[in-house]
Amino acid sequence: MKIISDIQELRDHLRGQNRASFVPTMGNLHEGHLSLMRIARQHGDPVVASIFVNRLQFGPNEDFDSYPRTMQADIKKLEKEGVYILFAPTENDLYPQPQEYRVDPPEQLGDILEGKFRPGFFNGVCTVVLKLFSCVQPKVAVFGKKDYQQFMILRQMVRQFALPVEILPGETIRAEDGLALSSRNGYLSIEERTEAPNLLKALQDIRNKVIELQERNINTLTSLEQAAMKFLSERGWNPDYIAIRLQRNLAPPTNANLEANEPLVVLTAAKIGKTRLIDNLEI
Ligand code: AMP
Repeated sequence: MKIISDIQELRDHLRGQNRASFVPTMGNLHEGHLSLMRIARQHGDPVVASIFVNRLQFGPNEDFDSYPRTMQADIKKLEKEGVYILFAPTENDLYPQPQEYRVDPPEQLGDILEGKFRPGFFNGVCTVVLKLFSCVQPKVAVFGKKDYQQFMILRQMVRQFALPVEILPGETIRAEDGLALSSRNGYLSIEERTEAPNLLKALQDIRNKVIELQERNINTLTSLEQAAMKFLSERGWNPDYIAIRLQRNLAPPTNANLEANEPLVVLTAAKIGKTRLIDNLEI
């Protein structure tokens, strides 16, 4: 595997390749990331991964400085997956000047759910992903459905800018007890780690109840969301949101949408101790 930090050197290495597949990450790799590498390998050649902890997507009180950086272990994992190039730019490589040109996603997708609780987050994500696409120029890029809203926003960005990249989803990879794998799981104490699978349990409860409902309407869904918030709060969590939304645009469903049986997804973000976890489940 070639490890490259310089944009020009990356371009030199990829010159003439028009089938590259790409998996951007922030490192501290786990099976969730590696599952995306395997999807990338099936859909393109060579596979390019990136590791870059992107300051633009962290809020002032978030964990940019303490975000786990485990480059040596990550390199070994990527080598095993047959990744051809690891693009690992420094901040100076990717942002030699302050990044003043930004991609701002539309309010109705970028300022809801995660965007509401993390202002500027999706602006930072879209900006870095557009820039990474410009560096790698992949044919295919793979993103995890663990970050459901991020996946949708990036797919829409690619459509609206007519970028010549196909965006593919990867299913969420979980620990045996159901907790979605995440670099931030490493922050959990033993007690918090034991409690953490209840986040998925809250989502599963909602999904089961929605499926069983005789009559789906906005009121019944709202009361399910509220009951799940209460369930988590009583167990010591600090939930930001639990929201049942339309899969196609993440808007709150109307009664007409519900009558038409449009596909739904339930999304959540909640803090346990100091650690903020997110998860979602399609219904
Ligand atoms: P991150 O390093 O957290 O920025 O994530 C890099 C990519 O891995 C993103 O596309 C994430 O959605 C994806 N990812 C993170 N955790 C998981 C998981 N548990 N299962 C599948 N994909 C994941």
